[in-house]
Amino acid sequence: MPTVTNGTSVSALSQPQALYIDGVYQNSSDNATFPVNNPMTGEKIYDCASATVDDYASAIESAHEAYASWSKTGPSARRLIFLKAADILESYINTDAPEILSSEVSATKSWIKVNIFATAGIFRESAGLATHIKGEIVPADRPGTTILVAREAVGVVFAISPWNAPVNLTARAIACPIICGNTVVLKPSEFSPKCQHLVIKALTAAGLPKGVLNFLPTSPELAPEVTEFAVKHPKVLRVNFTGSDRVGKIIAAWAVTCLKRCVLELGGKAPVLVLDDANIDDAVESVVFGALSNSGQICMSTERVIVHKSIVNEFKEKLLARVGELKTGNHLDDSEVSISGLFTPASATRVRDLIQGAVDGGAKLLTGDLKITGPNKTIMAPHILEGVNSDMNIYHKESFGPTMFIAEFNTDEEAIALANDSEFSLCASVFSRDVLRAMDLARQVRAGSCHVNGPTVFVESTLPNGGTGGSSGYGRFGGIAGVEEFTERKIISLARPGMKYPF
Ligand code: NAD
Repeated sequence: MPTVTNGTSVSALSQPQALYIDGVYQNSSDNATFPVNNPMTGEKIYDCASATVDDYASAIESAHEAYASWSKTGPSARRLIFLKAADILESYINTDAPEILSSEVSATKSWIKVNIFATAGIFRESAGLATHIKGEIVPADRPGTTILVAREAVGVVFAISPWNAPVNLTARAIACPIICGNTVVLKPSEFSPKCQHLVIKALTAAGLPKGVLNFLPTSPELAPEVTEFAVKHPKVLRVNFTGSDRVGKIIAAWAVTCLKRCVLELGGKAPVLVLDDANIDDAVESVVFGALSNSGQICMSTERVIVHKSIVNEFKEKLLARVGELKTGNHLDDSEVSISGLFTPASATRVRDLIQGAVDGGAKLLTGDLKITGPNKTIMAPHILEGVNSDMNIYHKESFGPTMFIAEFNTDEEAIALANDSEFSLCASVFSRDVLRAMDLARQVRAGSCHVNGPTVFVESTLPNGGTGGSSGYGRFGGIAGVEEFTERKIISLARPGMKYPF
């Protein structure tokens, strides 16, 4: 078994990755590791330490201890660490970040930039929140009483963040909790520990004290055991999960046994409504970007394109022409590729099966040949379907791949009914030149966000992002909404001495 060395040195991607607990890089307590593979080639890149329940117990203790001082650290000191970390993270674009992102998650050139620069933005926005964690003074009926409602950090937060935008989503999982004065035990995805470690590395280099952020990758086999342990641990006071609705439901069920609050940022099946008066060229560009960025592996990806019957032919023609211009392939061989491989061969097969199931049920494939290519069978060209109905799995399930289907409508009521016929509720878009009509429909779509004349893939770190329940989960990230999730209100009342009591 390889010895796990200090994880700060990731210049050589092949170096093993260590756990980071209480400010110390270390092997797991049983020295176990798991392989992390390059999804494009299928080859092992390095071994990663696999945290055990004992490691989680130590990390939770460390985070609990660190909470005592971190929660009392002044806002300017907290802010400075995040501002420094933003600059440090940006510098990684010139060192190891491109290689790590390209190797671990098949990130294209543009996706690498999104991961680094948008994440620096998350750090800076979080830094700005430090002085906005405010309470209120509430008028009291009781004579002479002063009532304060303070906002206090919660304590130890257990965070789980995924591989698909590994740097952004790791920052999002930990930045707001930490700036609020909480401490964090982070479980990164088993597919992208080094990408996610960039966040830990930047914050540590910026001076984040030991114990405030602990990093515990775990093998997929151990994931259920350590996750259940951490979710139910009495010193973990909040759970912050970004991942699939399948695992979200498991985590929520564990949390409810101890009535623990969770933030669950889960999947999506975003609809785009293209009304008869839409600017079709704009709508096409937006659907292509929204459906196919990162090969469709974004929670906000456009998966359902609901187009007015009167313009559907023109829309399809333009969409197919535009999609035909995109380059699909191995980003390791060709840096101009827009659609690279999916994150595992199993994921590619799953997406292909969803499309095949629809075709077998009578749907028509407008583009795509159902082939999976590449050295590790992860590359799929864009696939566009029409004639999908609710008997088909792809109608309901998040595909998380480079595919979408087109549905047609006649009236605005039909468009809304189609858009809302989903368990998911993360985001949506409406295209129309009539802004008032578009606003009216935007209000009726059941989604945490609905964009008028813009893509479903749109997020800024000030916004209260999240679903409105169902399979997209609950709780909001971003700006003050994030502060509300990761702080508690505390009522502190001050009575006047000599108060009179009824008995
Ligand atoms: P996932 O739910 O498959 O995996 C999440 C984590 O759960 C992994 O680390 C895995 O080890 C662990 N896990 C697997 N089985 C488990 C079990 N039985 N018990 C406990 N833990 C278990 O999700 P993923 O592949 O990491 O991420 C992709 C998903 O994340 C997509 O559905 C996507 O839409 C969603 N996502 C949502 C947002 C958002 O903001 N809403 C953002 C990005 C991604």
